Amino acid sequence: MDLFEYQGKQLFARYGIPVSAGEAVQSVDDAVAAADRVGYPVVVKAQVQVGGRGKAGGIKLAANADETRTHAANILGMDIKGHLVNVLWVERASDIAEEYYAPFTLDRAAKKHLGMLSAQGGVDIEGVAAENPEAIARIHVDPVDGLPEQACRAWVAAANLNPDATEGAVEILTNLYRAYVDGDCDLVEINPLILTPEGKVHALDAKVTLDENAEFRHPEWSEYDATVTLDERERFAREKGLNYIGLDGTVGIIGNGAGLVMSTLDVVNQVGGSAANFLDVGGGASADLLAGAVEVVNSDPNVKAILVNIFGGITKCDEVANGIVEALGRVEVRSPIVIRLDGTNADDGRAIIKAHESDSLISQPTMLDAARKVVELASL
Ligand code: GDP
Ligand code: MN
Repeated sequence: MDLFEYQGKQLFARYGIPVSAGEAVQSVDDAVAAADRVGYPVVVKAQVQVGGRGKAGGIKLAANADETRTHAANILGMDIKGHLVNVLWVERASDIAEEYYAPFTLDRAAKKHLGMLSAQGGVDIEGVAAENPEAIARIHVDPVDGLPEQACRAWVAAANLNPDATEGAVEILTNLYRAYVDGDCDLVEINPLILTPEGKVHALDAKVTLDENAEFRHPEWSEYDATVTLDERERFAREKGLNYIGLDGTVGIIGNGAGLVMSTLDVVNQVGGSAANFLDVGGGASADLLAGAVEVVNSDPNVKAILVNIFGGITKCDEVANGIVEALGRVEVRSPIVIRLDGTNADDGRAIIKAHESDSLISQPTMLDAARKVVELASL
């Protein structure tokens, strides 16, 4: 789950990382009122879960109320790479002497956390990473050992920051690492981390991705739900406890297990179709869950035919078959369903489907047969 910049900054502030005072608002009038309270000059910042806001015109300095009004009016409603701006963050503007880049993330190959630090931060960091990768100092942190001060100092020294920034950077990176680990983040990134002309080091931007697997130990994350931008189908699916991702094709896909669903997507593509979604019902696959899954896929107007691909392990095919039959009684399904059952209790499951087979419920013996059939039906 990605956070907005202002939520990331709130997280950083809890870990003692200096950020600018500001307010989140949703209207032009509120932006001006917030700027009056924060004190001029301010920065008016689009809150969208995508980078490159500055280059897209979503970050503007304002010296007074009039400029704040103009910028807020321009930025609210702006589309930044497909993300609509509904929220602005208005913060006290900072003077910048230097801009640095400082993220932590997991390096899966190294089985360690990876910290990066560059003296050449700011909006062109992608260019630096591509053309001048040695300008980024890297540190691998063993999660068991954590980040000892000495290692942190050596890392900061390797990045060749302005010497005035050394102490501030060591303190912020130590706290950033704590925020990353204790906060259960997949990514924390400060770009730019700035040095001010007065010699203070300070986070001017915040990018935070939370590890949703840790949600159970963070009741405070529920406050983010309202700001997570899911499309309507995804929101609906989440309410039903399903892993759903909307795509652009015409074949609705329901499967159990992410690996099987991915393979199903591939096979549908291979026989000339395209998936409208990715829906993993997981290990359980009760009648309720399947009814919900069918409902979610059915609510997508692009779906012309539905493929249910189940490989029974813990999941029993007869239960799945009953679930589908029950779902058909509950939901008015617009599109034909092709179902392939294999694995635990497959014969029982197929018999149940057989008893209810029609033009809109068709059983196929293999994944390939099922994919061919569903693509044929979707292109009618
Ligand atoms: P991003 O483009 O989405 O990464 O948004 P940022 O929050 O990083 O802002 C982009 C750029 O705007 C920064 O790299 C700064 O150069 C500039 N900027 C942001 N806040 C301030 C500020 O308080 N003062 C000044 N002078 N520039 C700022
Ligand atoms: Mn940035």
